[in-house]
Amino acid sequence: MKDILSLGLDEMRGLLLSKEEAAFRADQIFNWVYKKRTLDFSEMTNLPKALRGELPGLLYFSAMRAVEKQFSKDGTEKYLWKLKDGNQIESVVLRHPGHVTFCISSQVGCALNCSFCATGAGGFSRNLSTGEIVSQVIHMERAIHGPVDNIVFMGMGEPFLNENSVYKAINILHDPRGRNLGFRHFTISTAGIPEGIKRLADSEIDIRLSVSLHSAKDELRSSLMPVNRIHSLDSLREALVYYQQKTGNRITFEYALISGVNDTAGDVEQLIKYLRGIKSFINIIPVNPVNPNFERPTDQKVVDFEERLKAVGFESAVRHEKGTDIDAACGQLRQRRRG
Ligand code: SAH
Repeated sequence: MKDILSLGLDEMRGLLLSKEEAAFRADQIFNWVYKKRTLDFSEMTNLPKALRGELPGLLYFSAMRAVEKQFSKDGTEKYLWKLKDGNQIESVVLRHPGHVTFCISSQVGCALNCSFCATGAGGFSRNLSTGEIVSQVIHMERAIHGPVDNIVFMGMGEPFLNENSVYKAINILHDPRGRNLGFRHFTISTAGIPEGIKRLADSEIDIRLSVSLHSAKDELRSSLMPVNRIHSLDSLREALVYYQQKTGNRITFEYALISGVNDTAGDVEQLIKYLRGIKSFINIIPVNPVNPNFERPTDQKVVDFEERLKAVGFESAVRHEKGTDIDAACGQLRQRRRG
């Protein structure tokens, strides 16, 4: 038995051929799933009845069930999914004027343990399969009765530590014969895994890259993000330069501003120095309430920080987070115990 949402069209054709079925049946199934969002073989009415009866013995749909839905007053929706093995993950629907973004998880929990993030506090359980990643997207499109515009791997987990499943999911959702979502509609957000960034640069997958920076000072960054002890700012920068030389893509940087921690004039100057020469967009996020030791700076501090970046020519924006009232904002997705 194979999870249907983990198969590309060519694999599905191969599987049907091996069962002495016509390969074009795979195209029909792919069409039902990715164009009509059908997750039930009995509804695939252009397939012969006999085949409809046999398919459940060959393929299954990632058994994922929404155990909780929360709706924020700003239109954000958070879904808690229960996976086949009892593990639970969260994903988020973000609504912007004229487009919808899904924030998707790549792992159950996270191993990186950033001090400001709730996901890491729960530890790491396992990688998500391709099917479990694709499933979040298809299930949420069904829930909102419409197509998503952008997919960001900014939910639980570090996508570059589950590269194979993440890339395969992107390729399946990108396939023009199915869901046909352009590469530029995907973003991988990383805490800074240089090898992953370089492999992305070398790949055919021309998606957007976002880097969770939060400090351009090694010592401070290491205390906020333990991954920096292994992959220093220098090695990260080297990978980013390589990525930009190869792809020409602008890179987004996430900078969660924490009062008295990374919001001083010295911090912004160090950031400017670090990013000089890299075509960047900087998202400044007043830190979301997760760790009681970390507070948001005053509005004035946030403005000063951004003004300084703008003054030296950087593009940036202050993101006032969405969904904080339902713990759906950056860093607020947490691993819940099996139930
Ligand atoms: N592991 C990847 C994907 C997670 S994305 C990464 O680190 O990029 C989640 C984003 O939310 C990251 O940019 C993370 O740094 C940020 N974040 C985590 N906790 C936060 C908090 N309390 N306030 C604001 N942003 C936070």
